[in-house]
Amino acid sequence: MLSSNQLTQIVHKYLGLYNSTDCIQQFCKWTVRESTVGGRGIIATEDIPCGEVLFVDRPLIFGPRCGNVIRGCTVCSKFEDDGFFKCSLCALLLCSTECQDFHTDDCNIIAGWKKKVDIEEIDEIVMSHALAAIRALSLNQEQKQFMSALAAHTLPQHGGEIIKLKQYFEIPEEIEKDMIFACQALDTNAFQIATPYGKKEMSLRGLYPVAGLMNHSCLPNATYSYNDERQMIVKTSRFIAAGTEIFTCYSGILWGTTTRRSYLFKTKHFWCKCERCADPTENELTESRLSLKLVLCRDILATLAALGLEDSHLCGLLFYHLHATLAERARRHPDLYDGLKSEIESTIERAYRILRGDISAPVDLELRYRYLGPDCEKPQQERFSILSI
Ligand SMILES: [Zn+2]
Ligand SMILES: [Zn+2]
Ligand SMILES: [Zn+2]
Repeated sequence: MLSSNQLTQIVHKYLGLYNSTDCIQQFCKWTVRESTVGGRGIIATEDIPCGEVLFVDRPLIFGPRCGNVIRGCTVCSKFEDDGFFKCSLCALLLCSTECQDFHTDDCNIIAGWKKKVDIEEIDEIVMSHALAAIRALSLNQEQKQFMSALAAHTLPQHGGEIIKLKQYFEIPEEIEKDMIFACQALDTNAFQIATPYGKKEMSLRGLYPVAGLMNHSCLPNATYSYNDERQMIVKTSRFIAAGTEIFTCYSGILWGTTTRRSYLFKTKHFWCKCERCADPTENELTESRLSLKLVLCRDILATLAALGLEDSHLCGLLFYHLHATLAERARRHPDLYDGLKSEIESTIERAYRILRGDISAPVDLELRYRYLGPDCEKPQQERFSILSI
């Protein structure tokens, strides 16, 4: 295992803060050290004011998110296009000859594997989900070393993308291992890359290795945004005193405590022990507030419908919140489920159709759609498992 100093050096080099030829180290106000919450983290080495850029990270690898159930071009990410075609060499879905010209790196890797079935039989969604891990095979030695220094969950559910890929290709064992490790590193550390508002693009995940070293808190002191080049700009969101760990938030910051904690446990496998999670006043909405939220959502939706704005972004968000309120009610009172089922399903379906691919869509939109939408055939208890601790 790399020491914290070695890792700091790799990080600085990756960010362009260290020039190995003349050994010049640019100034930086943080370092990689043992974290207060376990493992390693990013620690301020001096006082940092609010709003200061800490670093600009770029993805080691990126690709369509695994929760994506929509078909899209594996190069430019756009979806809802009629002219899509499957590459006859690698089965990746493409939208144009321009995108085809850009996909040679991905294509060369996949086309090198012996196929077990005809190209037509290969599910493009499986290809799309495995793509980020496939791209890890193109990393150079230094990049691989950086990726292996990141924490990675080794539970069997991580790497399912590659198991599915193996139905179609004969993949050498070593390569399979590398891709499974990439899946584990992605599941542990990847960030959803925001797509510009209004653009119909598949949502992507990116392995931002420096940001991946930041630990989680539901009261973070850093925030991040993206530029057009998929770079992640990480800034302080409040004053950070020297010696303090720099945290980001892996879940939705505005979600309730139950939702945040269950999301973190299901996706990142830890129970958050931060100050906010321990605060009893942060806990669930009371029944009366839940009822108020229900009435407000219904009233505003009725007004928007009267104005002919059923497909507006605001309407999508209101459907999401109406759904979340109904689902929360059914979670608390399972005997009400049968009566609420059809509305729980129809509201998340409406929200999903309007908001999918939007930058401001709630992070759990797709998960809710899959578990609580009309096409889910799971039993009642399992459907609500995504909401409960
Ligand atoms: Zn394209
Ligand atoms: Zn191809
Ligand atoms: Zn917390």
